[in-house]
Amino acid sequence: MSGATRVLVLNSGSSSVKYQLLDMRGHRRLATGLVERIGEEAPRLVHTPAGGRRRERRERIAGHEQALRLVAEELDADGLGLGSAELAGVGHRVVHGGRSFTEPTLVTDEVLAEIERLVPLAPLHNPANLTGIRTALALNPRLPQVAVFDTAFHATIPEHAARYAIDAATADAHLIRRYGFHGTSHAYVSRRAAALLGREVAEVNVIVLHLGNGASASAVAGGRCVETSMGLTPLEGLVMGTRSGDLDPAVVFHLARRGGLTVDEIDTLLNKRSGLLGLCGANDMREVLDRAERGEAAARLAFDVYIHRLRKYLGAYVAVLGRVDAVVFTAGVGENSAPVRAAAIEGLEVLGLAVDPGRNAARSGEPRLISPEYARVAVAVVPTDEELEIATQTYALVSPEQSA
Ligand code: ADP
Repeated sequence: MSGATRVLVLNSGSSSVKYQLLDMRGHRRLATGLVERIGEEAPRLVHTPAGGRRRERRERIAGHEQALRLVAEELDADGLGLGSAELAGVGHRVVHGGRSFTEPTLVTDEVLAEIERLVPLAPLHNPANLTGIRTALALNPRLPQVAVFDTAFHATIPEHAARYAIDAATADAHLIRRYGFHGTSHAYVSRRAAALLGREVAEVNVIVLHLGNGASASAVAGGRCVETSMGLTPLEGLVMGTRSGDLDPAVVFHLARRGGLTVDEIDTLLNKRSGLLGLCGANDMREVLDRAERGEAAARLAFDVYIHRLRKYLGAYVAVLGRVDAVVFTAGVGENSAPVRAAAIEGLEVLGLAVDPGRNAARSGEPRLISPEYARVAVAVVPTDEELEIATQTYALVSPEQSA
């Protein structure tokens, strides 16, 4: 066996960098790590090499460039640095690809300029993603860099689902349409779900419920996404940890005119202080459930609002797809919370949906069915793996002959 078989995956968020180094032979993790609170109080880096001891660094980390240089130092210390001949490329999660990027893309100067042009659509994320790419390039200019876009999987959504019903010229002038996010996860999970059913991707219609801190639903017909719940930004759709999801847009005017809030204050309110957190003071579903069980009315209501919205989307997506083969839960809440899954599906036998309580309660890290034997539509849990999906897409682009 020869050639470079490793891929470094970098996920540069607004104040964090997560990374994984994978060997694509057998999909082994060689190192994982996280830099958090970049540019804030008490930043830290945690690095864990496979089979080795976890290392932690606490020092001033002013920005993403410095964070990535520290990551490179840690990888170097394990002989896994960006100069290593075994590294085939770096895969970067890029949040917004607008309409320009519908596939994983090898980074060139033109690609960087286009990601830059899309900054107004993702003002917190795209700049961090760009710094990640530029720093990795500076550390090893010969190493191929691949941008994998959160929006790309949703590029197949038909125009009637992607357009908002507003003045068309205004929408076009400001690139306003529904783009969708979490695409890497929806792509990976819908494919794994088809495999779980033992069917070809092209044959199955799947509803994916990605329920993490951020949450989104998608309808995938024969491997192509046809509808998703997030829109121009990740604010639309389901109730999330701290985001409101859908609301009447007039709430924004009302808060500005009557509440005296500025646009930035409303932005923060809806993105950071709403959702479960806004309703009951906790954004972690475990805490919401604990409090609800102890009889806290606000927590119970928060859970009910969350589930009600989820069920509305589920019903809507059955109508969008017409025929559904599987409903699939993924991400932190979807993979771990049996009560959320049970409440989301309860009483939907009319749609062919049911959950077997024993299967639902069983804990596992593997893709699994939680519907009863007789169910017409499969209900499944499929753990997402966005890093593996980014690495797979990156490797296919930089090393097509080996990944085939
Ligand atoms: P992110 O959107 O940040 O990637 P994750 O997909 O990792 O988030 O999901 C994180 C969320 O998963 C946490 O906020 C927590 O609410 C939820 N979670 C994790 N474990 C459980 C559990 N056992 N029960 C309910 N919720 C859980």
